[in-house]
Amino acid sequence: MMQERPYSDAIARLKSAGLRPTRQRLALARLLFAGGDRHLTAEQLHGEATAEQVPVSLATVYNALHQFTEAGLLREVIVEAGRSYFDTNVSDHHHFFHEDNGRLEDIAGDEVRLGDLPQPPQGKRIRRVDVIIRVENNDR
Ligand SMILES: [Zn+2]
Repeated sequence: MMQERPYSDAIARLKSAGLRPTRQRLALARLLFAGGDRHLTAEQLHGEATAEQVPVSLATVYNALHQFTEAGLLREVIVEAGRSYFDTNVSDHHHFFHEDNGRLEDIAGDEVRLGDLPQPPQGKRIRRVDVIIRVENNDR
């Protein structure tokens, strides 16, 4: 019974996003969305899939994460070049980045007050502002 509900949730989620619920997408969606708000790298999700004996390559995990992001199911948070997290919380919010352990922690969108933003470049408009506040241990 524990397994059933996340699967039907995952099917509904994929369908509503216009994605065909293939077996691999379903397995990954179930892992991603079964545990509330999460921030995962592709490597972490691949590790979870492997632990659950879901036969899927890291490249497939990457592809699925980008497809889910394009479909609006996930938000990609790029902490630095080559380091992306995929966030199951797609609402407007910001993040603390814990430099000691690489963890992202949500900050409610209204807890960050933005000052004057620069004019966007010619022909562009600002779509979203993501704030990442990097934190380290006090005793360093
Ligand atoms: Zn988040």
